[in-house]
Amino acid sequence: MQITIVGGGFGGIRAALKLARDKSNEVTLISDRPEFQYYPALYSSATGHSHLESWVPLGEIFAEHQNVKVHIDTIETLQVSDKTLRGKSGATYKYDTLVLAMGVVTTYFGIPGLETYAYGIKSEAEIKRLKQRLYTDIAEHHELDRNYVVIGAGPTGAMIAVTGGGGVPSVGRSAASGVIAIAVCRSGSTAVDNNGPDHPGRYFNE
Ligand SMILES: Cc1cc2nc3c(=O)[nH]c(=O)nc-3n(C[C@H](O)[C@H](O)[C@H](O)COP(=O)(O)OP(=O)(O)OC[C@H]3O[C@@H](n4cnc5c(N)ncnc54)[C@H](O)[C@@H]3O)c2cc1C
Repeated sequence: MQITIVGGGFGGIRAALKLARDKSNEVTLISDRPEFQYYPALYSSATGHSHLESWVPLGEIFAEHQNVKVHIDTIETLQVSDKTLRGKSGATYKYDTLVLAMGVVTTYFGIPGLETYAYGIKSEAEIKRLKQRLYTDIAEHHELDRNYVVIGAGPTGAMIAVTGGGGVPSVGRSAASGVIAIAVCRSGSTAVDNNGPDHPGRYFNE
C-alpha cells in the first residue's frame, strides 16, 4: 500500500515507523522541517542548553527504513478528487492513503498583548529570540534584578522556572552578583499537581 503522511512530529513519525514494519507498505513522510522536534525537552534548550537536545534529524530516524521516503516540504493544498497534495516547493504528491498529522499551533486565548510581547519556546526561532533577550539583559545591560514571569505551571512552565533559576541566570551570577526572580502563574491553586514524586513540582516545595 502507498501511504503518505504529512507531519514529522510524534504522530507522523510513530505512524511511519509502525507502518514501515510491513515491507509491502511504501511510506512517504512529508514535513516542513528536516528534524523532529522533541517538545518535552524544549525548556532545556530555552534555558541555556543546546538546541540539539530537542532536535532529531528525520534522516537519522528513518536511515534504516528503506520503505520510508522523507520529503521536506510544506503542504499547501489537498485535492481529494485526484488524491493529490501540492507543496510550497511546487511539487505534487500522489497518495493512496493519507495520514494528516500536522499538530497544533500555540494559542494565546485572545489575551491582548501576549502574542506580541511574550516569548515562546515552541520553535528554534522562538528559543533564539528568548535567549537573545536574556543574554542582552545580562551581558549588555548588566540587568540582573529583572522579574521574569512564566505563565502556565504545567510541566514546561515548571521546568522553565526551575532550570531557568539554575541555568541561564548562572551566566549572570558569574558576571556579577544579583538575582533574577521567576514567578509561575496558573489559574489553578497548585503547580504541576498529580504528577508523582519526581516531577518538577516538588522543587517548588524546596
Ligand atoms: C513545550 C511542550 C512540551 C510538551 N511536553 C509533553 C510531555 O512531556 N509529554 C507529552 O505526552 N506531551 C507533551 N507535549 C505535547 C506533545 O508534544 C504533543 O501532543 C505532540 O507533539 C502532538 O503530536 P503531533 O504529531 O500531533 O504534532 P507535532 O508533534 O506538533 O507535529 C506536527 C508536525 O507537522 C509539521 N507540519 C505542520 N504543518 C505542516 C504542513 N502544512 N506541511 C508539512 N508539515 C507540517 C510540523 O512542523 C511538525 O513537525 C508537549 C508540547 C509542548 C509544546
